[in-house]
Amino acid sequence: MKGIDPGASPSGTGCAECLAENGWWFHLRRCAECGHIGCCDSSPKRHATAHFHHTRHPIIASFEPGEDWFYDYTTQDFVRGPRLADPRWHPKDQPAPGPAGRVPDDWESQLN
Ligand SMILES: [Zn+2]
Ligand SMILES: [Zn+2]
Repeated sequence: MKGIDPGASPSGTGCAECLAENGWWFHLRRCAECGHIGCCDSSPKRHATAHFHHTRHPIIASFEPGEDWFYDYTTQDFVRGPRLADPRWHPKDQPAPGPAGRVPDDWESQLN
């Protein structure tokens, strides 16, 4: 399926850019094409959507434990997809918002 590579491993357990910038995220999204992990549109920096704009990789999957939906930016619609390479989600003991120790006390007021 265009935009999905089931063999691509996730880039890590958290948003790649937030980890590099000492930032924090609410929920995590996984690029279905290259495995980039980015933060959701409710997060302060919206790195998953930024990744789409930079790369034109069109489809993300949830990286939240137990969620198996995909979203296509080009059609702005949810789609079905195959099982992606493990690990499918971030570790269950990793908090959302995360990462541990970097989330401000007033994080809810900073969501988009
Ligand atoms: Zn981020
Ligand atoms: Zn990508």
